[in-house]
Amino acid sequence: LTGAFGHPVCVALEITGGLGMPCVPGREDDVFESDGQISKRPVRALTLSALAPRAGERLWDIGGGSGSIAIEWLLAHPTTEAVSIEARVDRATCIVRNADALGVDRLNVVQGAAPEALEGLAPPDAVFVGGGLSRALLDDLVTRLAPGTRLVANAVTLESEALLAAWHAERGGDLMRIELAEAAPLGPRRGWRSSYPVVQYRGAL
Ligand code: SAH
Repeated sequence: LTGAFGHPVCVALEITGGLGMPCVPGREDDVFESDGQISKRPVRALTLSALAPRAGERLWDIGGGSGSIAIEWLLAHPTTEAVSIEARVDRATCIVRNADALGVDRLNVVQGAAPEALEGLAPPDAVFVGGGLSRALLDDLVTRLAPGTRLVANAVTLESEALLAAWHAERGGDLMRIELAEAAPLGPRRGWRSSYPVVQYRGAL
């Protein structure tokens, strides 16, 4: 059974309990298999909004993890293209399984470490850095890609946050700090359980 765009609708229906896949990014975390290395639903929604996929555009998803960002990019429109670059073999194979399960078999998965693994790939309209963020990687992207290529990068550690702050000072763009808390049990009552803040850079090369 395939849907309007050739997606295997039956699989998506199974995963979402018969309701079909939601149409917007920020789908439930558990539609993706992962070992915990996954952008959580609200951060993923904000990331896809920053990446702003348009018909026919290609994404490089560097540090693919579970592939959730590239998969939501591909689900945005049937003509989008994406490459997930992931250093670890187990995670690269997990990305392939997630793409198959969610009906986006046009995801190209490259197992290897960026920036070396970027060699020979067709140039993207947008790049997301979700892992492997370093000065060397950003400098490499500037020399490798056309000016105007969109860049979104998420940082959780102080070191990668400092790098994005310096990059923002040099190159402009937007820097946003995402601080989320969710209600969770606290003794017999509830309290706000905070996630690590995520610093998100959005700009152009
Ligand atoms: N955005 C992902 C989660 C990324 S976790 C998701 O939503 O699923 C960061 C990932 O980056 C890890 O899987 C790690 O193995 C990978 N990584 C780290 N350095 C890398 C590099 N230089 N090249 C490619 N992948 C890298």
